[in-house]
This record gives sequence, structure tokens and C-alpha cells, in this order.
Amino acid sequence: MTQFELSDEDVLKIDKFLSNEAIKERAVFLRKRAVFTDQYKNKDSNFLFEIIELAKKNGIMGYSFRSGTCAICGSGKNYIKFKSGMRKGEINHNKTWYSTVLDYRKSFVRVKDYTPFGVCEECRENGFDDLLKRTLLTGDFKFEWNDKIVPCPYEKDEKKICFKCEKSMWESEMSRSQKMFASHSTYASTCPHCGAVAMPFGASHDITEDFRIIEKK
Ligand SMILES: [Zn+2]
Ligand SMILES: [Zn+2]
Repeated sequence: MTQFELSDEDVLKIDKFLSNEAIKERAVFLRKRAVFTDQYKNKDSNFLFEIIELAKKNGIMGYSFRSGTCAICGSGKNYIKFKSGMRKGEINHNKTWYSTVLDYRKSFVRVKDYTPFGVCEECRENGFDDLLKRTLLTGDFKFEWNDKIVPCPYEKDEKKICFKCEKSMWESEMSRSQKMFASHSTYASTCPHCGAVAMPFGASHDITEDFRIIEKK
């Protein structure tokens, strides 16, 4: 081990560096992750911790199949080589394609050429699915996830602002209307304060970033 000495001046510089909020946040994150991975010992626990932290922040864990690379093993980017011509045998970068991965992030915005942060079929079969199921069943995580993983007891309840009376309301307090082209599905439509109804192609209540987690009815 190399020993080195620090002058008072250097120590002060380091102190200043450590007071940086981002570094403190990172330290908290790493400490929490260490506690988590110790509790759920598995080769994939680090990644699982990341998606759980994100789900807590968003109130919901995503579940959608997209094309992209696997966050655990890195596979998924597939190259095609030129079959003929001058560049025969070389990689054709215009024809790169991605395998399907299951993305647990809830992404609100679709970006062109966006590479999702998912898990490939092989990693899911090699233990990630089991780890995720076991973790969600044994811990008490207050966010919503897809029942296809394991049944979820919670629901994300979003706060909205009425377009007419401007009062705030939870989506769970609103009465629902039938969707126009889907006879079996409904949407939260009506303000519990003034009865203003949001229409699919008309006025709609304002969405806020606020949410709470409630038990599923
Ligand atoms: Zn993988
Ligand atoms: Zn209202």
C-alpha cells in the first residue's frame, strides 16, 4: 500500500469536494445499494436495485417489450455484414438491429432511436425473473408493478387539477367514463367537486407530477 501525506490545504480542498451534493447523493445511493444487495444476494441485485429505486421515484415499474440491449449482459445489438460488393464481409452499420428486451423503466417519452434499458430473455430465464418475483413478494415496496410479474397490492394514484373549478383531485376519487372505441375499458373522467367531465377529444383535467400509492381496490 502506498502511503502519502496531505497538506492542510489539500485536506481543505477535499472537504470542499465532499460537500458537493451530487457526491453525497451518490454516497447515500451506494450505501442503500449495499444494504439491498446484502439482503437480496444475487449476481443481478445491483441492476434490480436500480430499477426499484427508479420505480419508487416514478410510483410505477414499467413492463414493456422493446428492442434494445440487455442491461445485465450487454447483448442485443446485432450486426449484418455486407454480403457482396466492395465491402463484402464488413459490418453494415445502417442495418444494425436490436433484439427484444423487457424494459422495467416507465418511460413517458418516446425518443427516436432510444435504446431501452431492459433485460434479455436469456438473463430473465437465468435467474432475473425469479429474483424480481422473490424480491417483490418478500419486500414491501410501495409502487405499482405489472401483475404479470407477481400480483401487485398497490396502485399509483395521480393528482389532477380540474379544468373547470381548478380544484385538485386524486384519480381514484373521480368517476369513470367508457372509452369511445373500447367498450370494456374506462378512464377517470369526472371531477368529484364540480362534475366537469373530461372528453377524449375535448377538455381534459391537468396532469400534475404528484402521486400517492394506494391499496388496490
Ligand atoms: Zn442479458
Ligand atoms: Zn371541478
